[in-house]
Amino acid sequence: MSYQHQFIDNSPCDFPPGKVVCVGLNYAAHVAEMNSKNIGEPLLFIKPASALAPMQEPIRIPEGRGACHFESEMALLIGQPLKNCNEENVIEAIAGVGIALDLTLRDLQKQLKTAGQPWEKAKGWDGACPISPFVKMEEVADLQDVDIKLWQNGELKQDGNTGQMLTKVIALITYISQFFTLLPGDVVLTGTPEGVGPLQAGDQLRLELAALLNIEAGRVIQG
Ligand code: ZN
Repeated sequence: MSYQHQFIDNSPCDFPPGKVVCVGLNYAAHVAEMNSKNIGEPLLFIKPASALAPMQEPIRIPEGRGACHFESEMALLIGQPLKNCNEENVIEAIAGVGIALDLTLRDLQKQLKTAGQPWEKAKGWDGACPISPFVKMEEVADLQDVDIKLWQNGELKQDGNTGQMLTKVIALITYISQFFTLLPGDVVLTGTPEGVGPLQAGDQLRLELAALLNIEAGRVIQG
């Protein structure tokens, strides 16, 4: 499985696939559906570059590891290094905007949480981050007013707007850069709206990021 970042307009995209820095529980309604609490500060975790996969190719989920949930999220492609950055530097460092799935082995995640262990095995496996090509940042009028929708087999399951984020993009990336230097080719996932649920083999997903992106994902396969 090989993955390279792409722009939707097929213009050259030389950024090497890097780490994926994710925020959990960034939409209040999703916090509620998970029976979680808003902890007041962004909850960060990382998927390795090997988790990235092209969304249009078949989505492979592990077998025998319990439920695997979809979470659709706005994804930001980083184009310039950011370390302890100021809020003013964030927008110019974003090269593109896409939509990603933060695939989550939910049963395994629960077990790991209960045992007080890190979540990587539940969220960082190979292919755990199917991702679309990116729209160039200059095409995006307002990062905090973008509709995110996901259909599973034709049924609308997620219908959110990035205006509902608890920590908005600029504050989130500034915060991330205090812990992890963001490098060109890294990706930031900004959290999922409510409506997450389990995938089954054979599922067909469609994801939409406002008028920017409309992606028919590859069919879900198991194993
Ligand atoms: Zn997520």
